[in-house]
Amino acid sequence: MKAVMKTKPEPGIVVLDIPVPEVGADDVLIKVRAASICGSDLGIYNYTAAYSKMTLPVVMGHEFSGEIVETGKDVAGFKVGDRVLSESVKACGVCRFCREGRSNLCEESTLFGIHTAGGFAEYVTVPYKLLHRIPENMSYEDAALVEPLSNALHFVKDITPFRINDFVVVQGCGPIGLYSAQLFKLGGADVIMTGLSADKTRFEIANKLGIETVNIQEQDLEEIVRERTKGVGADIAFVAVGAPPAVKQATRIVRKRGRVTVVGIFGAEVPIDMTWLVRRELEIKGAYDAKPVNFPQSIDLISRGLVDVNSVLTHRFKLEDAEEAFQVALNKTGGKIQFQPN
Ligand SMILES: [Zn+2]
Ligand SMILES: [Zn+2]
Repeated sequence: MKAVMKTKPEPGIVVLDIPVPEVGADDVLIKVRAASICGSDLGIYNYTAAYSKMTLPVVMGHEFSGEIVETGKDVAGFKVGDRVLSESVKACGVCRFCREGRSNLCEESTLFGIHTAGGFAEYVTVPYKLLHRIPENMSYEDAALVEPLSNALHFVKDITPFRINDFVVVQGCGPIGLYSAQLFKLGGADVIMTGLSADKTRFEIANKLGIETVNIQEQDLEEIVRERTKGVGADIAFVAVGAPPAVKQATRIVRKRGRVTVVGIFGAEVPIDMTWLVRRELEIKGAYDAKPVNFPQSIDLISRGLVDVNSVLTHRFKLEDAEEAFQVALNKTGGKIQFQPN
């Protein structure tokens, strides 16, 4: 089968022909129908420091959906022909965080596409306990966008307390920003989203989704927030980019006792004016990955038409065109990019 792989500790990827994986007793074999490129896959492509401990060689991809074509002997509740999507984290199940339902913080977790073979391939094996059934009214395309929506849902619903009428600034208009902004709106918040001049396509997607945008290279964000909030400041700043200046700006635009949630991954330490934080009683929280419970919640939101994941999908590629797909993704001007291998 064809597979998009990381084989060497240096930038780049390769498309190789490899054997279809063996199916273990607890595994199902999935014929992959759709698999999305994540921001983390770009870090893997570039082989940045954050991924220097990954397993090599490995088939990439952790956001995928498909059809079960084989089941191991101990698999329960799923059968050949079922349409499924998978969680991205294989957690230990027994550490303190797993027992609290926070497998995103598991001490011993492994991830598809980083430690074990992922979904940028014609077939992938998955332990059945990580599977979720795809509702009849949901496409494979949308199903492969459930994992990133689950991340956004965890960041917004679990980590960032907010109320109807809160003024929220989502900084960054990549897929996670676009999903998070929709969730804040769904919760009754007044939302603006920031981006740069290069984000033209992303702004168009945002506007189509009814999200107001601010180009911070052309407009003064702090002034806009002051005007909109009568000088008080935003209730929430949500940093969905890995750019250090965005964190400082977040602390400047929120009101006293305001909240900052940071979900970007940064290449270096980020300096913060701590006295400013102290005197204004600000709160900063990190948010990472998704909990298992966020998957059925995301499936429900998509299936009821409350969140539009598909408008964020801008490009579809075959596995053999992986290099081109990654070049488009690395450009960061489009939305979500998918492989559709079968
Ligand atoms: Zn991801
Ligand atoms: Zn664990």
